[in-house]
Amino acid sequence: MGNIAASIITIGDELLIGQTIDTNSAWIAQRLNEHGIDVLRRVAVGDTRSAIETALDEELSKHNLVLITGGLGPTSDDITKPLLCDYFGGKLVIDERVLIHIKEIFSKRNRPMLDRNLKQSEVPDNCIVLFNKAGTAPGMWFEKDGKIIIAMPGVPFEMITIMEDEVLPRFKNIFKSDSLIHKTIFTAGEGESFIAEKLMDLEAQLPLNIKLAYLPDGSMVKLRLTGRGADEHILENQLVELQNKFADRLGTIVIALNDLPMAQILGNAFLENKKTFGIAESCTGGYIGHSITQVPGSSAYFMGSIVSYSNDLKESILGVSHDTIVNYGAVSKDTAIEMVKGALKVLNVDYALATTGVLGPDGGNEFLKIGTVWMAVADKNSIKTKEFKFHYDRQRNKFMAAQMGMLMLWKFINNK
Ligand code: ATP
Ligand code: MG
Repeated sequence: MGNIAASIITIGDELLIGQTIDTNSAWIAQRLNEHGIDVLRRVAVGDTRSAIETALDEELSKHNLVLITGGLGPTSDDITKPLLCDYFGGKLVIDERVLIHIKEIFSKRNRPMLDRNLKQSEVPDNCIVLFNKAGTAPGMWFEKDGKIIIAMPGVPFEMITIMEDEVLPRFKNIFKSDSLIHKTIFTAGEGESFIAEKLMDLEAQLPLNIKLAYLPDGSMVKLRLTGRGADEHILENQLVELQNKFADRLGTIVIALNDLPMAQILGNAFLENKKTFGIAESCTGGYIGHSITQVPGSSAYFMGSIVSYSNDLKESILGVSHDTIVNYGAVSKDTAIEMVKGALKVLNVDYALATTGVLGPDGGNEFLKIGTVWMAVADKNSIKTKEFKFHYDRQRNKFMAAQMGMLMLWKFINNK
C-alpha cells in the first residue's frame, strides 16, 4: 500500500450524548501513530443504519484505512454487522471457532445461552474474522478496492485485545513504514517557558526527522523527542545522543530519562539503594500511598502509610506533641517534622515522608493560606522541610502535593 490515510469511526448513541467518553479513538490513534500511520479524521455516529452507512461512504471516499468500533455487542439492534456484510456484498455464516469460543464462555460462567449470543458467532463470509479472546463479539477485517476496513466491538478492553492480537501484527507486515521512536526527558522544578528558553538553540538545530514536544504535568514537564527514520538502529543512536545533549543542558532539573510515573521513579531509587520508606499523610489522605502501591513490586521498599488526618491521630500514633499543634498549628513546619520523626519510628523504615496542609476550598485564614502544604523528609540522621503553595482546586492541589512529596523524597535519597 502506498500512502496510508486512516480514519476512525466510533459508533454509539452514548458517545453522542456524552455519557461515554470516546477513549477508543485516542488509543487507536496512538497505536497507529506508533506504526507510522497518520490518522486524518475521527468521526462519531449514532446507532442508526443510515448514520453508519453515510459515515462509511464518506470516510472510504477519502481514506484507504478505516477503523470502526462499537455496535457489535449482543444488545445492539443488529445493525452494524449486517450492514457491513451487505456493504461489502457478502452473507452471514456461522464461524465454528467463534461459536465454540462463545459456548465455552457461557459454560464457564454457568449462564444460559440466548439466541442473541449465538448470533454473535455469525460473520460475513467476505471478511477475515478477528478472533476476540476477551469477549463474544469477533472483529472483522474487510478489503475492497485496495482499502482496508476493520470493525471491532466498542468495549475498550475487547477492542484493545483484538488490536493487539490480530490487527497490529498484520499492520506490521502490510505497512513497512519508517520506524518511530520516542525518548523522554522527565524534568521537575521549572516551567515550560524556562525550559524552552534554555533549549532554544538546540531545538533550532534539530534535524528534520526529529520533533520535540513539551508535555507539562503539574510542576513536572516531560520533554518528548520523537524521531522517524528508515533504519531503526541509526535512529535510536541519533535520539539517545540528542536526549543526553538536552539533558546535560538542563542539568539538575532532570529527574529521569524515561517516561515512568513519579511513583515508579521513586520506587526504582529505593530498589537500587536497597532502602525502605514509609509515609505519614495528613492532607494527601493516603493518595501518596496509593500512588506508590500502583507500582508492582512496591512491597520491596514501601512499608506503609499512616493516614493521620485528625490531630488526635497525629498525637496518638505519630507522637506529635499536643503543644506543637496548639502553638504552631497542624499545618506547620514543626508538626511536619514531628510527623516524619514519628513515621520513621513507628513504621521502622530507613526514610520517611510527611505531609500536612490545607487544600481548600475552606479551612484557610489570614495566617494560613489555602493551598499551603508543609512537607518533611527524613532518614535517621537528617530532616529536610519545605513549604509549598498550591493554587488549584482541592483535587488538583492534592495531586500536586502527592507529586511534590514523592519528588522531595526522591531528591533526598539522591542527595539532590
Ligand atoms: P450497547 O447496546 O451496550 O451499546 P453494543 O452492541 O453497541 O452494545 P458496543 O458498542 O460494541 O456494544 O460496546 C458497548 C460498550 O462499549 C459500552 O459500555 C460503551 O460505553 C463502550 N464503548 C463503546 N464505544 C466506545 C468508545 N469509542 N470509547 C469508549 N468506550 C466505548
Ligand atoms: Mg454500542
